[in-house]
Amino acid sequence: MKLRTRLFLAAFGIATVALLLAGALVTLSLQRQFLDRVESELVAQTRLVADLVARRAATPTVAELDAEADALGLDLGARVTLIAPDGAVLGDSAEDGAGLAAMENHGSRPEIVAARERGIGLTRRFSTTVERDFLYVALPVAHPAVAFARLALPLTVIDEQAASVRRATGIGILLALVGALILAWVTSTAMSRRVAVIAAVARRYAEGDLSRPLRGYGDDEIGTVARALDASVHELGRRLDELSRHRVLTDAILSSMAEGVLVVDNRGQVRMANDTVRTMLGFETSPVGRHYVELIRHPDIAGQIAAALDHGESSRREVTLNTDPPLVLLAGTAALEPAEGDAGRQGAAVVLHDMSKFRQAEQVRQDFVANVSHELRTPLTAVRAAVDALMDGAGKADNRLFIDIIDRHTSRMDRLVSDLLRLARLDAGQETLGVVTFPADALFEAVETELLPLIEERRIRVTRRIAPLAAEITADQAKLHDVVKNLLENAIRYAPADSRVVLGTEPQDQAVLLTVRDRGPGIPSAELKRVFERFYRVEQSRSRDPGGTGLGLAIVKHLVGLHGGVVTAANRPRGGAVFTVRLPQPERPVASASEEAAEEAPADVSQAAS
Ligand code: ADP
Repeated sequence: MKLRTRLFLAAFGIATVALLLAGALVTLSLQRQFLDRVESELVAQTRLVADLVARRAATPTVAELDAEADALGLDLGARVTLIAPDGAVLGDSAEDGAGLAAMENHGSRPEIVAARERGIGLTRRFSTTVERDFLYVALPVAHPAVAFARLALPLTVIDEQAASVRRATGIGILLALVGALILAWVTSTAMSRRVAVIAAVARRYAEGDLSRPLRGYGDDEIGTVARALDASVHELGRRLDELSRHRVLTDAILSSMAEGVLVVDNRGQVRMANDTVRTMLGFETSPVGRHYVELIRHPDIAGQIAAALDHGESSRREVTLNTDPPLVLLAGTAALEPAEGDAGRQGAAVVLHDMSKFRQAEQVRQDFVANVSHELRTPLTAVRAAVDALMDGAGKADNRLFIDIIDRHTSRMDRLVSDLLRLARLDAGQETLGVVTFPADALFEAVETELLPLIEERRIRVTRRIAPLAAEITADQAKLHDVVKNLLENAIRYAPADSRVVLGTEPQDQAVLLTVRDRGPGIPSAELKRVFERFYRVEQSRSRDPGGTGLGLAIVKHLVGLHGGVVTAANRPRGGAVFTVRLPQPERPVASASEEAAEEAPADVSQAAS
């Protein structure tokens, strides 16, 4: 039911009940008053009749008395009966002659009995004589022949008059009800309209629109309540705003963190997990709402969380996850202490720090030191032995031999130290690029000239295949010379004698590809990536030891990377290795790959990340 209907019904109902009650009371009291007045008037009239009769002659005839009764009855508008002391009716305004003579003895009529006993008789009863309800008043008369004078008023007359009183009251009530109806309607409409305005504002607030209403709420209690609610809604809105701003900020911080963060509540259910922790622990679906025990497989981390939840312990531990590659994590846990007034802990937070790179770098550094020491020890031992032999005074012919040994190993150490220094310079970013455009042919020519003794020694045929669209290269010429020299030197060293090594260029999108192909043993697929690592040598070549430092390809990778390019190693389908350097070129026209490149599609390729 609508509020307006309710208010209307309530107001109208109350008014109706009140009016009906008041009407009933008024009617009753008016009726009472009216009856009292009629009775007292009838009594007064009866007294008047008794007085008049008392003054009559002492012995009137019945005819005289009846005429008297008739005259009085006419004057008073009531039935007048005169009764003898024995109860015989002497005169009656309602009966004449024979009728009068036939009338019953009235001595036992209740009003007469009462008048005889108490001096006045007042009854209301049915008259058998005239067959109607009457109000009777009887009084004793001080007359020798007439003992009682009785007046009777038909009740219908009284009732009619009482009915008119009731009618008047009824009309009054009806008019008042119409007024009440209009008033109830007007007030309930006004009230419900105000409540509807407040409800509309509340609905708007619920939908998130917190703009204030244009109209005021009024000055009464409803207005006060509405204003108080309005103020609390705005305060709440302000706090929610602040909270969501905080949340956005927290989310931004958490998602940009390199550390993985996971928060569980006091029942162990995940409340929050940032992207990093999802990646680290390999969650495929959102972990929020799930129990940490089913999510975190590593017993140490799960144990740390349990300790934080159960005993409030904070801990830090390094754990290794069995992923590929293994992930080394520093897991820190802390209990979330309860908020003020709360009992028990709120939960626990886990912060995971990826230590893998740090551990890897440490490993690389340790390996590097071990490798350098190892690489230096071999030539140093040889030199030491040769020096010892010389000091022991070996023969003249042997001297030459020992001096050769010393020469070979010191120059190897020299090469090793200069390669190390070069790598150190490159690592420190001390080498800058001086980019120029030069013909590829000139570059190859210069490298071949420098390596001519080795080429001749190993009887290698070096051929050049320069694509017309890649005849010119834009790069740092000296650094690219070192790159090609390193690659060609390796090709010559590892290729069999009398074989062919091809130096080539090809255009590719916005780059030029420099290739060095040989017919050597190639590189086992598993090692293709690793040949660019410092001191890494394929096992077989190590045993053969063709005199390299193991740093050449690492330097190549660095130099190419400096140009924004990449170097890859691959095996040729019909045997041999191919090293490809991809150098980005400024605005080089697009050209399709040459047929040679299609035929030489590598069997497997590795890429040295630059
Ligand atoms: P090194 O000075 O020993 O040649 P590099 O860094 O130049 O060191 O090469 C690393 C390893 O890669 C070599 O030891 C060799 O095993 C392998 N390698 C390089 N070039 C070739 C090639 N053309 N054919 C086969 N193996 C090669």
